[in-house]
Formats: sequence, C-alpha cells, structure tokens
Amino acid sequence: MNQTYETDVVVVGAGNAALCAAISAKELGSRVLVLEKAEKEKRGGNSFFTDGAIRFAYKGLTAIREIVELDEEAAGKISMPEYTEEDYYSDLMRVTEGKSDPELARQLVSQSFETISWMRNHGVKFELNAENQSYEKDGKRHFWGGLPVRTYHKGIGLVQKLNQRLGELGVDVWYGARAVRLTKEDERITGVIVQHGENEIDIKASAVILACGGFEANKAMRSRFMGAEWEAAIVRGTEHNTGDGLQMALEAGAEKYGDWSGCHSIGTDYHAPKVGDFNKPGDIFKKSSFPLGLIINKNGERFVDEGADFRNYTYAKYGREVLKQPDHMAFQVFDAQVRSMLRSEYNLEEATCYQADTLEELADLIPVAKEQFLQTLEAYNSAVQDGEYNPTVKDGKRTEGITPAKSNWALRMDQGPFYAYPVTCGITFSFGGLHVSPEGEVLTKERQPLPGLFAAGEMIGGIFYENYPGGSGLMSGAVYGKLAGASAAGYVKQGNLIKS
Ligand SMILES: Cc1cc2nc3c(=O)[nH]c(=O)nc-3n(C[C@H](O)[C@H](O)[C@H](O)COP(=O)(O)OP(=O)(O)OC[C@H]3O[C@@H](n4cnc5c(N)ncnc54)[C@H](O)[C@@H]3O)c2cc1C
Repeated sequence: MNQTYETDVVVVGAGNAALCAAISAKELGSRVLVLEKAEKEKRGGNSFFTDGAIRFAYKGLTAIREIVELDEEAAGKISMPEYTEEDYYSDLMRVTEGKSDPELARQLVSQSFETISWMRNHGVKFELNAENQSYEKDGKRHFWGGLPVRTYHKGIGLVQKLNQRLGELGVDVWYGARAVRLTKEDERITGVIVQHGENEIDIKASAVILACGGFEANKAMRSRFMGAEWEAAIVRGTEHNTGDGLQMALEAGAEKYGDWSGCHSIGTDYHAPKVGDFNKPGDIFKKSSFPLGLIINKNGERFVDEGADFRNYTYAKYGREVLKQPDHMAFQVFDAQVRSMLRSEYNLEEATCYQADTLEELADLIPVAKEQFLQTLEAYNSAVQDGEYNPTVKDGKRTEGITPAKSNWALRMDQGPFYAYPVTCGITFSFGGLHVSPEGEVLTKERQPLPGLFAAGEMIGGIFYENYPGGSGLMSGAVYGKLAGASAAGYVKQGNLIKS
C-alpha cells in the first residue's frame, strides 16, 4: 500500500446510479470522491449505451411539461394519458411475475417523478420519445405505455450532463481506478482500497456507495450463477461490470438478494462486438422486430411463438431461447411485405443482413439445414389462417396445426425479396444483487444495515425478476442513487466520521 486519501463519501462507479449518488451526497454537504474502473474514454458504464428511455409515474401532460420543454403549439397536438404510481407498480409486478420486493418496488415507483424532476434541476435534459412510444391519429400524437420520455441524446447525453454537473459541484472523478476491497473496523465500513495505475491507494471514507454494476460482463460468474451456456452471450454494454462490487460487499458481510440466476437479455446481431463498443455508441445491435417475421435456427426449425405478444413482453425471454439453439444462433426471417416496418436498427450499416429473391436462394446464403428450413416455411405458410392483419394490435391472425404456433401477425411468407438477420443472445444486465433497505443501506444477513455501506443501480437485488418494464433500469439507478447519496450524507452528518 503506498498512498492514502481521505474523504467523507466515496462512490464506486461512474454510471447513472453512481453519478446521481455523488450529486446527491455532495448537495447535502459531503466531500465526495468518485472512482471509475474504466479510462475516461470508456466512462458511463451501461448507462452510456442506453436509449435513455426512462420510466416514471406522471399525472398527464402537465407533469410531462415540467420535465420536457414543449411550447403551447406542440403541447396542443399531444394526447398524453396519465401513468399513475399504481400503473407503474402493477406493470413492475406483472412483468416480474409478482416477485419484485414490494417495499423496494414501491419506493422506486413513488420516488420516480420527484427524482426525474431533481435530475432535470441538475441539468439533465429530456425529450419526448415520440418515434417509439406514440402513434398519429386525427391530427394528434397519442402516447402510450408509460414511457414517453428519454434523455436528450440518449445515454450519451445523460452521462455527459451528469458529469458536467459533477464538475460544476467540484467533485473529483478518478478514472482507471478499480475498487478492489472494502476496509472494515469494528463491523463498520471505513473505506475502500483502489488500484489506480501502479498505485494501490487506501481511501478512508465515512461512507462507501457501491454503484459499480452487476456481473453481466464476467463469464465465470455468468456461468456459475446462470448456467454454462451463458458464457457464450454477447455483452451489450460495458466490459467493466464484472461483479467486483458485489463480491466486495459479500466478503464484507452483505446479504445476497434477488434472482442471481436471472438477467435481462435480448436477440442481438450475431456479429455485434463481444462487448459494447464505446466508439459505436447507442443501442444499435438489438433486433426486436421478430413479431413481424419468423425465427429459425440452424437446424431449419422454429422454436418460439414469434407472435405470442408485443415485442416488449417477449423480447427478453426470446434472447434466452436463442442462446439454447445450436451455436447459440438463429435467423430472423422476413419478406418484402413487412421489411419497411422493421425498426430502424435493421437499416443501419452495422446490421448483418442476407437478402435473396427466393427462399431457396436465401437458404443457400446462410448456414442452415436447407431442406428443413424450406419445409418449415412451407408448413408455416400452409398453417396461416385468414383474418385481418394489423401490426398495431394483437390481431389474432394466426397459424393452426403447427408447433410452435404463431399467434398473431401471421402473414404468409411468400413475397420476395426475402431477408435473414442472424442473431444471438446479448446480455443486458444481471438481476441478482445485494439486499438494501428502501433508503439504499446495504443489509447484512441479519437484515441490519451494514454501517457505512450503501448501494444503488444494478447492484441492488430483488427488484427485477424474469423481465423488467423498459426504462426502469435507469429510473432505479437514479432513485436509489439519489437515496443512497442522501443516506450516506446523513450518516456522515450523524457524526460517523472516520478516524484518521
Ligand atoms: C445496450 C443497452 C441498452 C439499454 N437501454 C436502456 C434504456 O433505454 N432504459 C433503461 O432504463 N435501461 C436501459 N438499459 C439498462 C441500463 O443500462 C442499466 O439498468 C443502468 O444503466 C445501470 O446503471 P448503473 O449505474 O447501475 O450501472 P452502469 O451504468 O453500468 O455503471 C457502473 C459503472 O461501474 C464501473 N465499475 C465496475 N466495477 C468497478 C470497480 N471495481 N471500481 C470502479 N468502478 C467500477 C463500470 O465501469 C461502470 O462505469 C440498457 C442497457 C444496455 C446494455
């Protein structure tokens, strides 16, 4: 150990949750230091890669206008039904199959509007997410689904604005600074050891806030907790979320909590980088338009009901199913009738696409068992029932007599050209984490606060299981980041000062 450093609150990580925690502790009077494992050019963690979609409860357009700048004319053309705390809570409970910790879920929901207003007051800019969350009808733009807002310039803008605010508040961020171990005296956390370049530095702090992500980028941990096949998953975000904070906290006596065998994952371009590429920012490799087509594996077989529900409710499950297929690979297949309706990611130059005038020719272009592939398509085409096709509702236009069925949006695939997009499974983030109180205090196995230790963001377990309502990852990071920052600052103020 060759150096020491002293502060009130040390925050580990520099993604959304950590930056919110740092701002919150600083505004309440603490001296704050932020440690980030990545170099500056790879800062921002998973938060950097997001679309910036952020879910909060709001009372109609009036509330939205407190967050997003809209002049009278623009506002007059918008229909914005309210999204109440009860709506948010019941969405969260529904997609997590009732497993979300009620106390933590309630806190997330009830603090969501206040927290987004607080972010705005600290300079984060927001805009309407019109292209993905609204439709035009009778001269008005109608929003739906409780997710009408995103951060301006997506995750990149979010990270830039939060860092700008930290700079204004005079908070230091050390990059290339990997926290390796918590220090503890008399059952109380007293700081953290950090590897900073060649130096191992003993940071003495009254409070430590861990906000350094889950273990999605750690192959060994994925394999151990989620199953061996998860080694093969592509990491959609930062390579740095390798579970360091979780391991440190568990070693210090924290309780493991939530679904350690679960994660969010989706169908991702087979040729996407193995970990998120900070030079190609944004969520550009996802492939979520499968309800309009078919998903076929290398054996030439279908394996899911592509039309079971809207993509929001199936995309996370189907990422996992792709991972189980031979070579963890499948092809999303579409024909000319639906090609123009695919999401914008399918048009990017980064999208891998095979195109042919006939299905036979398409099968020759891709590594698939050709005969079975053609048989699968023939059987599917014969099974498609008549009915009115309408991709904006669950239209019930379905197949009969094949397994798996396609329950909605089943059109015969018979109009060339035909397209095949190879996909694999991309992991977004792990669900398992630490047990915290609704105030962000890390709890021990005895369910008591571990004095001096707080956590936020992906590190919190018990909120997400099976799936999550889109936009809740950022909101959870912000809500619990703000709370953890305030709790840590309060802990310092109560006189829990480090002895130097
Ligand atoms: C491609 C993609 C798109 C997404 N889109 C959305 C979306 O639109 N809306 C939404 O709500 N959610 C989205 N998510 C999920 C969202 O990114 C996360 O839920 C959220 O950003 C997590 O924030 P965090 O601050 O906990 O973690 P992160 O933002 O990942 O920050 C953790 C930080 O800790 C650092 N770190 C790790 N270990 C250490 C260590 N030992 N010492 C110091 N620092 C360390 C990491 O480098 C990283 O910077 C998306 C995720 C991905 C990958």
